[in-house]
Amino acid sequence: MDSLKKNNPVYSKTDTAKVKLTEDEWKKILPKNVYGIARMKGTEMPWSSEFEKSSEIGTYYCAACGNPLFKSDTKFESGCGWPSFYEPISKTSIINTVDKTHGMLRTEVQCGRCEAHLGHVFNDGPPPTGLRYCINGVILDFEKAKDAEKKYSEENKEKPAN
Ligand SMILES: [Zn+2]
Repeated sequence: MDSLKKNNPVYSKTDTAKVKLTEDEWKKILPKNVYGIARMKGTEMPWSSEFEKSSEIGTYYCAACGNPLFKSDTKFESGCGWPSFYEPISKTSIINTVDKTHGMLRTEVQCGRCEAHLGHVFNDGPPPTGLRYCINGVILDFEKAKDAEKKYSEENKEKPAN
């Protein structure tokens, strides 16, 4: 997944500053399939994402900018063909917008940091939220919890103890 970060100066898992780029700039830094979902609001083929069936523990980040979006413990098997979650990491990690395309009234979800198109949210999810965030796997970048913990302890090791 390191190809995501190569040539992408805005990709960061810690920087929360909003990202505003022109479509031309996005086109240059995103892999074609990510650009097609993120900026062209495309939809990947159902059942095409390795994340659809994955039950690994960790965090899902925006593949366009690195913003943390969902934790694996809010992921569930929806059977709809796309990775599904019942709750985002925080209220600001995603943006909800009204989508009236294709003769339907749906709620589109976008990345709260870079406004990449992620998918849609529906009201038929499981408790406690009753929501189903139906997300394109292409726009997700997964990091296993084990790796995150290792990185965390390495970072803290470098800091002098009080
Ligand atoms: Zn993003």
